[in-house]
Amino acid sequence: MFIDILTLFPGMFSGPFEHSIMGRARERDLLEINLVDIRDYTKDKHSVTDDYPYGGGAGMVMKVEPIFRAVEDVKKDRPSEVPTVLLSPQGRTLNQDLVKEYSTCKGLILICGHYEGVDERVRENIITDEISIGDYVLTGGELPAMVLVNAVARMLPSVLGDEDSIKEDSFFEGLLGYPQYTRPREYRGLKVPEILLSGDHARIKRWRSKQALKRTLLRRPDLITKKKLSGRQEKLLAEIREELGDDK
Ligand code: SAM
Repeated sequence: MFIDILTLFPGMFSGPFEHSIMGRARERDLLEINLVDIRDYTKDKHSVTDDYPYGGGAGMVMKVEPIFRAVEDVKKDRPSEVPTVLLSPQGRTLNQDLVKEYSTCKGLILICGHYEGVDERVRENIITDEISIGDYVLTGGELPAMVLVNAVARMLPSVLGDEDSIKEDSFFEGLLGYPQYTRPREYRGLKVPEILLSGDHARIKRWRSKQALKRTLLRRPDLITKKKLSGRQEKLLAEIREELGDDK
């Protein structure tokens, strides 16, 4: 998969994309990241990328021309169906379903805003999607782009050592993940649940399913309401509700 990132600050991406799983995915050509400096698409002597807002007001707005030119240039070599995504606090909130969907695309073109954001004509004319990473405002779209790329990259085939682990992550199946433990089996009197040491895989599987459901019920009941539970999960949930002794 390729991801073209249009930004005024390409240098911000060097650390996060060089290490760990992201670095290895790039080394193994599973993920191609192409950083595009929007400033390279200015035509004036001072390479101006922002200007005062029409109508007055605080801050600067990213100019329309360099962004149009950068997107058009990048798209020349890319399949036409690739999403062009503006990172924006006003967009649809990123979630795991959307991440899964993006991970099946051949590529993505991401536009990072800065200052007070981009000229509205960008939003109206050249993007296909507008994505937010949450209801708060950051100084630029670079960190949101890194979040999106990281989440998408780990869904790509062969990027993670054990691909099955994805399926047990929070949100993959619409629930939170189950609790995890590792050695030592006892630390300062704090013990690992006996069942995980039992070697009984069927019981461990059941325990994990139940813990995932319990966690989700207690922390994110909205996910339980949205999810279509299997018969087995319904039974476990009934058990949990009884144990909790309330009407959760
Ligand atoms: N004036 C804009 C508004 O009220 O919506 C906020 C602009 S913000 C300071 C500058 C840039 O940061 C945005 O254009 C966007 O690219 C990025 N940004 C900030 N918060 C974001 C978020 N929660 N999700 C995605 N991008 C965000």
